[in-house]
Amino acid sequence: MNIPEIFGTDVFDENVMQQRLPKSTYKSLKKTIQSGKPLDIDVANVVAAAMKDWAVEKGCTHYTHWFQPMTGITAEKHDSFISPIGDGKVIMEFSGKELIKGEPDASSFPSGGLRATFEARGYTAWDPTSYAFIKGKSLCIPTAFCSYTGEALDKKTPLLRSMEALDKSAVRLLKLFGCDDVTRVTANVGPEQEYFLIDRPMAAKRKDIILTGRTLFGAPAPKGQELEDHYFGTIKTRVNAYMEDLDEQLWKLGICAKTKHNEVAPSQHELAPIFNTTNIATDHNQLTMEIMKRTARKHGFKCLLHEKPFAGVNGSGKHNNWSISTNTGVNLLDRGTTPAENAQFLTFLVAVIKAVNDYQDLLRASVASAGNDHRLGANEAPPAIISIFLGDELTEILDSLAEGHKYEGKAKTQMEIGVDVLPTFPRDTTDRNRTSPFAFTGNKFEFRMPGSKLSCAGPMTILNTIVAEVLDQFYEKLSKADNFHAALDSLIKETISQNKNIIFNGNGYSDEWPEEAEKRGLLNLRSTPDAVPVYLADKNVEVLSKHGVYTKVELESRVEILLEEYVKIVNIEARTMIDMAKKDILPAVMTYIKDLSETASTAGALGADLTVEKELVTRLSSLAAATYKALGELEEAEAAAADIKTTEEQARYYHDVILEKMGQLRAPADQMESLCGEKYWPYPTYSQILFYT
Ligand code: ADP
Ligand code: MG
Repeated sequence: MNIPEIFGTDVFDENVMQQRLPKSTYKSLKKTIQSGKPLDIDVANVVAAAMKDWAVEKGCTHYTHWFQPMTGITAEKHDSFISPIGDGKVIMEFSGKELIKGEPDASSFPSGGLRATFEARGYTAWDPTSYAFIKGKSLCIPTAFCSYTGEALDKKTPLLRSMEALDKSAVRLLKLFGCDDVTRVTANVGPEQEYFLIDRPMAAKRKDIILTGRTLFGAPAPKGQELEDHYFGTIKTRVNAYMEDLDEQLWKLGICAKTKHNEVAPSQHELAPIFNTTNIATDHNQLTMEIMKRTARKHGFKCLLHEKPFAGVNGSGKHNNWSISTNTGVNLLDRGTTPAENAQFLTFLVAVIKAVNDYQDLLRASVASAGNDHRLGANEAPPAIISIFLGDELTEILDSLAEGHKYEGKAKTQMEIGVDVLPTFPRDTTDRNRTSPFAFTGNKFEFRMPGSKLSCAGPMTILNTIVAEVLDQFYEKLSKADNFHAALDSLIKETISQNKNIIFNGNGYSDEWPEEAEKRGLLNLRSTPDAVPVYLADKNVEVLSKHGVYTKVELESRVEILLEEYVKIVNIEARTMIDMAKKDILPAVMTYIKDLSETASTAGALGADLTVEKELVTRLSSLAAATYKALGELEEAEAAAADIKTTEEQARYYHDVILEKMGQLRAPADQMESLCGEKYWPYPTYSQILFYT
């Protein structure tokens, strides 16, 4: 396989544009992309025709606006290119209008009450910063999805708005540093995607995996991940074939799939692309997840993107590696080589620290979901508490800066911001602290809280916006100062001193940390019902609306959607458990008990010792009784949920009552699994699923 040759062959990218568009059209399109302004219709017509020719040559029959509604997955509605010309003949056509704007029926997508269902109109608008691509026989056009009154109904619109906010704030601040050549600042993300790959026929036998994406019952396997023999282990042939196939498909779509390896848990793997702008990387990640699932089918696997498919085994995250860079090629989170560059670096570094501290609640809310609740704080993923890891050396440097001390580390210098060069500190401290939710890794921050299934859009929207806000606050102070150097010096020192509480380089998994964090005044929003409502706190509504990212109405609708989704997910899980326990697990155990009893009566007639039979029958019967009781209680609790009025109260109820009762049902059932003969048990066990791929 010649990778450079196949790379991006299914993308209407720079190269294709240059080849296929008249020079003037290409130039206007580029300008639009760079400036973020709307596209002129004459230009759009030419672009659309060229796109259609290209796509048809590559076998396409349809086009679709590809968008990211609040369901968390992508949506598409395919229209063919055909257009009748009389005589019963058709030609292939695609106009600029069709390229720029689509009008899908929006009524069945979640809107959180934003748009009454009878007013079903919504529209999709081309996002020319993300290239069109081919999937199957359709030309896919990445689009934003809004209501007719302009409210965002998707995840892309707020993300694009947040990138604009950050761009504006950062460019303006950089002018104070004399960076007049910087005209655009972009936020980037490299999402590391974790996933499980399990045998498809095995998965097909489990209702819980099929209906909910995770196991709702399952006793631990004799072997877990304690040997850590899977992490970076040799990739099995069959998995390798899958990964090769996946890489090839991603490359064709211009997605820079770069790193792949086995993860800590058995049957768990990771794929990381090379980072891109938060917008394009989000599109690419959505596509990657879709192709991961589809390719798995082809190879007889099922790809699980759930945040916690198996109890007692690591869950899957999506580490968002985030940085900001200028159009002049400078990574603003990269330490420079001159005092001026370092002053600038420190400014952006402390701005991020302050932003994360001031808006911990928003960042936490941005990763909240029913699935991720099983991860955060569960001894394997970062806790639900937001803190920042900087590494010991950088922390010491910042401390000595703030206190005006000599830095006593390796470099031993008296630091003055903007005059001295920063002493060296280790770069790429990745994995030195895997327990931190937000770790500085030398030239970027790694946000480790997002769950594997989550779109990058949510957390990146929040991060971009809150950093834009702090950059504006800095601008306010610095632009008014008579002595820029002195003002910057005190701003940085003050910011470090005021935000020390959020810097934590210790073990985030330890039992002491939540206590210590509480003393430091850090928030610990444990669950989705705790976290999601914070979107509507005054300060959060203010910052998000001030930067034009979400209006209050949009936020209200999102809170409604997120809580409603939470309720629906837990409800489906509860009902699936009831079904499994009633129809499969209890009958299986009864059959085993019957066989044991029959054996006992036959053997008893021969005068045999019946200790084992008696003991097993007694234990299984009492566990079956406990299961039956828990099942009844869960059913009752489910029925009572219907009386709860508001979505927020419902979400609390599902968290406090239903999840609790689900746990009470699982416990005796899992005990029965470990006592029951394997051939009797109705589902593949953890051992079979995790170790027999
Ligand atoms: P690790 O597993 O050690 O955390 P990986 O190599 O798996 O690291 O993933 C690192 C991710 O960070 C990749 O997606 C990479 O492209 C991304 N990355 C590297 N540099 C930057 C940067 N400056 N900004 C954003 N992302 C970056
Ligand atoms: Mg990693």
